[in-house]
Amino acid sequence: MERARRVLPGGVNSPVRSFRAVGGTPPFFVRARGPFIVDVDGNRYLDLVLAYGPLILGHLHPAVVAAISSQLALGEAMGGPTELEVELGERIRQLVPSMEMVRLVNSGTEATMSAIRLARGATGRDLLVKFAGCYHGHSDALLAAAGSGVATLALPGSPGVPEASVADTMVLPYNDLDAVAEAFARVGERVAALIVEPVAGNMGVVPPRAGFLAGLRELTSRYGAILIFDEVMTGFRVARGGAQDLFAIRPDLTCLGKVIGGGLPVGAFGGRADLMRQLAPEGQVYQAGTLSGSPLAVAAGLAALGQLTPTEPYAQLERLGQRLELGLLEQARDHGLPLQVNRMGSMLTFFFTSAPVVDYASAAASDLNRFRQVHGALLKGGVFWPPSQFEAAFLCAAHTQAQIDQVVALFGEGLERSLG
Ligand SMILES: *Cc1c(COP(=O)(O)O)cnc(C)c1O
Repeated sequence: MERARRVLPGGVNSPVRSFRAVGGTPPFFVRARGPFIVDVDGNRYLDLVLAYGPLILGHLHPAVVAAISSQLALGEAMGGPTELEVELGERIRQLVPSMEMVRLVNSGTEATMSAIRLARGATGRDLLVKFAGCYHGHSDALLAAAGSGVATLALPGSPGVPEASVADTMVLPYNDLDAVAEAFARVGERVAALIVEPVAGNMGVVPPRAGFLAGLRELTSRYGAILIFDEVMTGFRVARGGAQDLFAIRPDLTCLGKVIGGGLPVGAFGGRADLMRQLAPEGQVYQAGTLSGSPLAVAAGLAALGQLTPTEPYAQLERLGQRLELGLLEQARDHGLPLQVNRMGSMLTFFFTSAPVVDYASAAASDLNRFRQVHGALLKGGVFWPPSQFEAAFLCAAHTQAQIDQVVALFGEGLERSLG
């Protein structure tokens, strides 16, 4: 870590990896397989970070490995269109029908910033509405009251983001439909887009209240604003068709990332064909990428998506998730500690607080010191849990019931220790 810190700021290439919020230094990893990841000292951990979401099948699923290997024999980059990209586009449209047309990019950040440019270009409006604690990547306009690493490091935003870039970004509390209705009543005609994590995952997991997403759909339609679902985390994760399938809401644009690349860098955005046709070269809104549609990454993504059926691994992940949730709650009860467990399928966060966690303010009320202690106990016991209160833990198809029980037991030991 010392050597890393001399060449990489904080020793890492993405802030949350630094363990700033939980203390100590992060393990440096050398290899992974299935549900396990191994560090340079030979310690093996049960992995509930799973690269922060992409690995719904676990590490090195044979189908993904085979797809990457066979593509590698054919070439790594083409600089021209390939059939694989068409296939992935068609597959996305089949699984997420609101995405009538698709553009592939290299990350979730690229997907969201490009979707917003498209929404602004298409509406001729500038104003953007987002929610406190939602994270939509690190582009300028979206770094206002952001979740994930921004929340983890308790940063107000980021130096280097010009006032002007966020001047047109309005931040509202998550799950507060009245606040949205009031804002739209005032400035609705000027709103280009409202972007939302349909199940928030970057202030920890916070599911939408009943009627919240439907209300957003209704308000944006009424005022001619574009509704963007940022499903970078929830896409192919909470259901094969994403949160929009689960809650039966059809957004105008959708952003994807994480699971869609099968562990390699892929993002995508897409939606209404009349909007997507305004992208260059068909339209005027510019967006491009040298390695967009990388054959290796697209092959990995297609292979991963090929493993998903309407019911599996989702039913299995729901069973495991429920077991984990109930186990954690039972441990907290046994130790007389207040605990909220927020879960949507295989995404889960525990908060040490007695009030339900419904937005960023209630998430931030969690006892962060106890989180740090319990995180340390989990790591010491061989469980790699996200090193921040404001991240989701993930389950994968390679996890077993016995492994979940082991996590629950270690959580109990962590609580014991935190009580001194
Ligand atoms: C991870 C994430 C992003 C950013 O994706 P990157 O690939 O890290 O750029 C955007 N939105 C949401 C909801 C995410 O979870």
